[in-house]
Amino acid sequence: MDRFSGLTCSFWPDNVAEESQRRMLEVIEKLLVLQDRDRLILRVRSELNGLGPERQALQVRGNSTQAALEGAKLRIKQLESDRKRLELEVEGKKQLIERYSIQQFQTKKNDEYRALAHEIETCKTAIVELEDQELDLMEQAEHVQKEVAAAAQAAAEMKKLVDQKTAELAAREQNLKKQLADLEANYDQLSTGIGETVLARYQRLRKQRGDKTVVGIEHSVCGGCHMKLPTHIVISCQAQQDLVTCPNCGRMLYYARHMDLAVVD
Ligand SMILES: [Zn+2]
Repeated sequence: MDRFSGLTCSFWPDNVAEESQRRMLEVIEKLLVLQDRDRLILRVRSELNGLGPERQALQVRGNSTQAALEGAKLRIKQLESDRKRLELEVEGKKQLIERYSIQQFQTKKNDEYRALAHEIETCKTAIVELEDQELDLMEQAEHVQKEVAAAAQAAAEMKKLVDQKTAELAAREQNLKKQLADLEANYDQLSTGIGETVLARYQRLRKQRGDKTVVGIEHSVCGGCHMKLPTHIVISCQAQQDLVTCPNCGRMLYYARHMDLAVVD
């Protein structure tokens, strides 16, 4: 049911009323076009803003696989230097054995000879232990070497992915920037004929209310805040003589023929 469809503005001469209605419709139409453009610009801008975090997330993924590789490489280095240290210790023990053997050869005292023989045995036992440790380290190194290979492969694959995605992001950015430039190119043209006061009000509202500034009044409810509108507001909106705003949220209201003004309870 359309409760207001029979209402007319009989207090104005028909031609004046018609003329100002035509003018009001034109303004509303221009505002809707402008709002549409602003929405598009907002969407493209927010997509552009989203590219930075996407890039950072990619970088973080790339860095973490690279860090895993560096970590494995560092462990290999550590194992290698530990093994070298053991090797040097073995070498030291071997030199001691050599020195003790010479001293043994030179001595004429039995107890000194025996003491040296004991020292030589102690060195030999130590060498066996050191060589066992060396073997253990080499085994560990073999495992870590496999980890390095796996990490290197993962890092290479990740780098490929990061490079590919980065190129995609760059292409997307370029595309969005072009879209934005196109959308902004004739922006000012869209607002000509709206009138400075209305335009200023629209821009102010846009800052406060975002992309829903000019709204319909379907079912006698404000399309922005969804509050039920007073009857006189609905009537003046339908008369389309003046720019009507929602008493609750301040948005600009408009009425189009397809809108059902029946109140939904
Ligand atoms: Zn409202």
